[in-house]
Amino acid sequence: RDELDIITGALTYKTKTAADVMTKMEDVFMLDINSILDFKTVSRIIDDGHSRIPTYRGERDNIVGLLYVKDLAFIDPDDKTPLETVIKYYKHPIEEVYTTTALDEMLDLFKKGRTHMVMVIHINAEDPDRDPVREVVGIATLEDVIEEIIQDEIIDE
Ligand code: ADP
Repeated sequence: RDELDIITGALTYKTKTAADVMTKMEDVFMLDINSILDFKTVSRIIDDGHSRIPTYRGERDNIVGLLYVKDLAFIDPDDKTPLETVIKYYKHPIEEVYTTTALDEMLDLFKKGRTHMVMVIHINAEDPDRDPVREVVGIATLEDVIEEIIQDEIIDE
């Protein structure tokens, strides 16, 4: 049955889009760029368990940077380093896909290796009297695409 699931997944994943596999914005663990990397914040990051954390300024959908948990290796919580200092130092690229982007295109993007997390953008053009509105509606990682191919959940360690 596992083999059949994987074959089915491999044959059908191209018809699925970023919207089908993304983690919705309200479920994403994020940090305010104005946070201080003190003991409390670093503990929250470690407890959350994800390895990449989007950082926002003002509104949660205004993503301005990505923190990789490994960036914290040289951070001493006693120094109370501003998160912004770390974000500006590493400048990890923030790549975007659309809700309609097909999963094979996402896989190609992830294979290029610049990033394994992308922001998923929805273009709202419903109101003909207004300019289309761009909004970030979620994030997606290589793992989300792989799960669709193997038709199974990957449980993180
Ligand atoms: P990680 O190992 O950091 O959890 P993965 O790429 O293995 O990241 O993704 C595992 C799942 O967690 C995916 O469904 C992904 O969308 C989700 N995810 C990744 N980072 C975050 C985050 N900061 N907040 C919420 N969900 C996340």
